[in-house]
Amino acid sequence: MQLFSIFGNPVSHSKSPLMHNLSFQGLNYNACYTRYRLEDGSQLKNKFFELGIKGANITVPHKEHAFNACDQLDEFAQKVGAVNTIVNRDGKLYGYNTDAPGFLKAISEFKDIKTVLFLGAGGTAQSTSVILRDEGYEVTLLNRSAKRLEKFQKEGFETYTFDTFENKDFDLVVNMTSAGLEDDALPCPQEILNNVLSNTKAVVDVIYGKETAFLKLAQEYNLPSKDGSDMLLYQGIIAFEYFTEGQFSFEEIKEKMQQAFVL
Ligand code: NDP
Repeated sequence: MQLFSIFGNPVSHSKSPLMHNLSFQGLNYNACYTRYRLEDGSQLKNKFFELGIKGANITVPHKEHAFNACDQLDEFAQKVGAVNTIVNRDGKLYGYNTDAPGFLKAISEFKDIKTVLFLGAGGTAQSTSVILRDEGYEVTLLNRSAKRLEKFQKEGFETYTFDTFENKDFDLVVNMTSAGLEDDALPCPQEILNNVLSNTKAVVDVIYGKETAFLKLAQEYNLPSKDGSDMLLYQGIIAFEYFTEGQFSFEEIKEKMQQAFVL
């Protein structure tokens, strides 16, 4: 039997074991997926081999450590410097980033989207902004602190803090912050949100499993919206494709994995 795991700190809340175990069972694939709370990210590679696992997902705060632990990186993971999926092939670790393609797929249901405003500039914004730009979207970032915007500026993105923000029409507005995760905070001052939400076509919150203050506000504007559940599901399906070396189709995996969201 093959063993898989998620590494992170914390990991107790993670849905990944349920998502992958439902898929392994449903597709009769002889494997089991567990969770491992890793305090010291530099120990990732040692733990991986000590546990004898075939593959892993890596979550906060170890995605950069995962990047450094790999022997081979796919082109996109190399470009963004963050790995959330590792596969062990003959003792060599292959690294991928499935968060960004998962997000791309999640927003694909919204049509006629060209300009996107990201509220937030953390690790998730980093990989998703790059994939969106590669796909022809125009991404603008608005963040609370100026510090995190520096690397986006260097990469040529248009960036603003709350003080410097100039409103224009954005087709899609995305909460990429953790504001609202454990509180009822909005990701930026409400007056800015009132302006951007009056002129947008859709909104997404990457936080999943709860209606955040941001999504509640979007409801007042009758905007099509979604939380981060699809992003989570799709990054999981793409990781599962790597884990099982392409034996199953996206739709076959989806049918099994999405059961984790209705239990
Ligand atoms: P980071 O810690 O890298 O970045 C956090 C960001 O949130 C920063 O831009 C920070 O701004 C901002 N922020 C935090 N609190 C507030 C606040 N109260 N008001 C305004 N801005 C705030 O986080 P990640 O990029 O790793 O994660 C961001 C979110 O994405 C999380 O909520 C996480 O749960 C979610 N996520 C969802 C996934 C999914 O599959 N659905 C996958 C991965 C992440 P500042 O620079 O000013 O501190």
